[in-house]
Amino acid sequence: MQPKSTVVHLPVYQPGKSAEDIKREYGLDSVVKLASNENPYGSSEKAKQAILAEMNNTNIYPDGAAVSLTRAVAEHFNVDANQVIFGAGSDEIILMLCRAYLLQGDETIMADQTFPQYKHNAVIEGAVIVEVPLKDGTHDLDAMLKAVTDRTKIIWICNPNNPTGTIISHDEVAAFMERVPANVIVVLDEAYCEYVTDEAFPDAFSLLKQYPNLITLRTFSKIHGLAALRIGYGIGHSDVIRTINQVREPFNTTRFAQAAALASIQDTAFIDSCKVKNAQGIRYLQAEFDRLGFTSFPAHGNFIMVDCGMPSAQMFELLLHKGFITRAGHRLYPNHIRITVGRPEQNEGLIAALKQIVQEVKVTS
Ligand SMILES: *Cc1c(COP(=O)(O)O)cnc(C)c1O
Repeated sequence: MQPKSTVVHLPVYQPGKSAEDIKREYGLDSVVKLASNENPYGSSEKAKQAILAEMNNTNIYPDGAAVSLTRAVAEHFNVDANQVIFGAGSDEIILMLCRAYLLQGDETIMADQTFPQYKHNAVIEGAVIVEVPLKDGTHDLDAMLKAVTDRTKIIWICNPNNPTGTIISHDEVAAFMERVPANVIVVLDEAYCEYVTDEAFPDAFSLLKQYPNLITLRTFSKIHGLAALRIGYGIGHSDVIRTINQVREPFNTTRFAQAAALASIQDTAFIDSCKVKNAQGIRYLQAEFDRLGFTSFPAHGNFIMVDCGMPSAQMFELLLHKGFITRAGHRLYPNHIRITVGRPEQNEGLIAALKQIVQEVKVTS
């Protein structure tokens, strides 16, 4: 048996440990997971009701084209229905884009560091990965433009960027699109856009009207709190959406996911309240980090990338012992951990744990 040469060396995705694992291993009563940028407030009650209402239809295949949900999302954003596509998470849309557009030897440009799924899926297609270092934790659009060649097929921009949380502005994206060749697809991954309060953040839909080579990716996994159901979407030019549809599995999103997403997109009160509470959490955490002497990148999503003044693996382990799971091990940022903004009492617990750790490290050194 000989796997494809592009697959042989790929690592298997290692999920972070679950709260249950950590409780058992460390003998803790309570563990708070602030590692995967999940919504600490769960999901809309209306979404939960919609899931229950599907319970008697498990024997029937879902609507492969997600017609009702497509119509609702198109109306919500004032775009045409043929501009919208759904995936099993926006992860699957990333996969489908690579599948549809990348041949062996094609080039694809992304930041270093950014969301790993762009590289992962492009490598499987045999594409050449061109990584452009972030500048101060932010996409360096000028350097990305300079990296474009006549083999470039897809450019990935993660905004806010995971893991740094930084954003690029509407004007910066517009100036970039003006200079990118029209045959290059630009993917604007906006998984956290609903959290952003900065008014300079791009209006992707006005840019879409001007640039048919732009596609925005969104997800129901983050602010909508439906990560378990696996549903995300892309909005772009109808030609691009049609191409992605050509490689899409016939029934790639479930009835439960479609029903919950439809209810959630209409529950703007739930989304708004999560956004407000997240912004308060960011303000609280950043003020406390300042007091601790920790510097962090400007946080625009529901997570903060903070320099904790010691190797991140060490801080990760010390926090685990106190019942907090965070994200460490970012190659270019050896002292940074990524922390998801939690509920107020979770954030306060995290800060208390960090204060204790800083004290303990002082005493022993
Ligand atoms: C979480 C995340 C996604 C996608 O998540 P899905 O659950 O697959 O929708 C996409 N991009 C970024 C940057 C993310 O952080």
